[in-house]
Amino acid sequence: MPGLPELNLILLGPPGSGKGTQGERLQEDFRLPYYATGDILRAAVKEGTEVGKQAKEYMDRGDLVPDEVIIGVIAERIQGDEAADGFILDGFPRTVPQAEALDKKMSELRREITAVIRIDVPEEEILRRLGGRRTCEKNPSHIYHVEFDPPKEEGVCDLDGGNLVVRDDDKPEVIKNRLAQYREKTEPLGDYYDERGILNHVDGEQSPDEVEERIHGIIATLRREEEEGM
Ligand SMILES: [Zn+2]
Repeated sequence: MPGLPELNLILLGPPGSGKGTQGERLQEDFRLPYYATGDILRAAVKEGTEVGKQAKEYMDRGDLVPDEVIIGVIAERIQGDEAADGFILDGFPRTVPQAEALDKKMSELRREITAVIRIDVPEEEILRRLGGRRTCEKNPSHIYHVEFDPPKEEGVCDLDGGNLVVRDDDKPEVIKNRLAQYREKTEPLGDYYDERGILNHVDGEQSPDEVEERIHGIIATLRREEEEGM
């Protein structure tokens, strides 16, 4: 078989698991396109692709973009040259029915998901990570963390003296609600992919470098198995 086998990866993990960071690192490390669903959806709308136009109609009406349209956007991307060796998908699927629909589309395209990497982080750690974030009132790109990246003076931005506030998204009740959604709708995906023998867990309480190293280990094992024809 010429070249390396395809690496079609899905990243799973609760909000605050650091999966966006890992997605960007993997994109560089393995030279694979990283598809964060929200980003490729917005790009398809901007470029005015066939499915992008469909998505725009829903978005203009303030409606949720239906699964089949999102899958259409993903399919447009993975049929491109850039994804010939694989891709990293983040943000979709979030539910078992979405995973089933994605599998169906993949088999139409004669592709399959090679591996699912789930970054697990306990809820109290997520609350600590997300709940400790403070954002500058003057410039929302100035972000601090009470524990991991505190400002010199409590509650005051180092750069412009702005007040540091807790954004609505970072309020404990909002975070808990997102986590409950994840538990209810997204966690069952673990079993779905486990039954297919492609689920891999990574302990997300480790540092980003350690998580990255662990993911490299998983991918190296996959490639070795593939070469050995397992
Ligand atoms: Zn500031």
